Amino acid sequence: MSFKDLQLNRPILRAIAQKGYDNPTLVQEKAIPLVLDKKDVIVSAQTGTGKTAAFALPILQLLFDRQEGPKKGKKIKALVVSPTRELAIQIAENFTSYATHTNLTSTVIFGGASIEPQIEKLKNGVDILIATPGRLLDLHKQDQINLDYIETLVLDEADLMLDMGFIDDVKKIERLCPSTKQTLLFSATIPYKVEQLASSILNQPKRIEVAQNSSTSKNVNQLLYFVPKKDKIELCLHLLRNTIKGHIIIFRRTKYGVDKLEKTLLKNGYKADSIHGDKSQTARQEALNKFKKKEVNILVATDVAARGIDIDNLDAVVNFDLPNVPETYVHRIGRTARAGQSGMAYSLCSADEKSYVLDIQKLIHLQLDVMDDHPYPLDPKAKPIVHKSKKTGSKHKKGRKSEASKKKKKRWY
Ligand code: AMP
Repeated sequence: MSFKDLQLNRPILRAIAQKGYDNPTLVQEKAIPLVLDKKDVIVSAQTGTGKTAAFALPILQLLFDRQEGPKKGKKIKALVVSPTRELAIQIAENFTSYATHTNLTSTVIFGGASIEPQIEKLKNGVDILIATPGRLLDLHKQDQINLDYIETLVLDEADLMLDMGFIDDVKKIERLCPSTKQTLLFSATIPYKVEQLASSILNQPKRIEVAQNSSTSKNVNQLLYFVPKKDKIELCLHLLRNTIKGHIIIFRRTKYGVDKLEKTLLKNGYKADSIHGDKSQTARQEALNKFKKKEVNILVATDVAARGIDIDNLDAVVNFDLPNVPETYVHRIGRTARAGQSGMAYSLCSADEKSYVLDIQKLIHLQLDVMDDHPYPLDPKAKPIVHKSKKTGSKHKKGRKSEASKKKKKRWY
């Protein structure tokens, strides 16, 4: 199938050609006709499948025929809600490039950045608004945003949005839009809570499933290193010196872990940067830009910060900490081996993470290749370290509390 078969207008087709896309991806092939037909749609597809264009192109097409000339006084007709700032910016960049040959305008608003320039841009009037939930509601409360003319609402990365605690905000935003609107829900996975949200706000939705790309897993050379937790940093440095080369993302579970590893890498002369939720918007964007421009070749990241961000064609992905959700492993390694190329994934597994490996192998129907030949082997009999809480109550009273202390406790709460 070609983009022409999808009934897209010339100006949009021109922009697609300029982007260098030859044919629609699977999710585009399935979603574009349904969106053009004004259906509500639930799409399960992850980043890298071309899902942004799957909603951006038909939205532009629907608005194109009724586009207005002058910028001023435009009403917002399409709203895209995205959980993270980086993703929102990326979606906005997509809209801008696909709309190059039209008069349609878009803007992006997100928290953690000055509000005034965003208000200024809104005052000019836009057709399409891309927003993170908090800032959107904030500006709506300040009467800077009118959602009365929304024709299409897109909830992108809905599972992440709910994981980040935006459920009430999302529901509120949905209620602020007209009930006649079309709603499109995109999510990497469709867990029960996404299903529930969908059934409460979508109207007879059509479903599109773009299979979890576990075939990606087959193009990735996946190596597994058993290592004591305390030696993970040493093993990581050893692998970077001897084995892992090129453009790399290293995933860690916590923000603290990301910072610690980044510092060690810098101290050891590596060009590294990092992204996680506690960093300012500017710092995160700068790190991403440096990585994309190849000024640094190592990016250390948490899953949430890296989710949805268009960084692919990596030479290698390092799972410094193994994820406890096996699908996350597939997302991570999917960033290497794009477009049929082969890639590398290195996983460092400590004793307490062994069960995660079993879950991952079950999901991808593959055994990871265990690499024994390294300087920090894990004793196969090593048991996970369980940190016992030292607090077993008061030393003197064997845990019994006086009435006074109980009252005090109450006052504390
Ligand atoms: P997404 O899944 O929306 O994050 O898109 C992932 C990447 O695929 C982006 O870099 C897009 O520019 C690119 N892309 C989207 N559609 C196509 C297409 N039809 N052909 C080639 N690349 C595409």
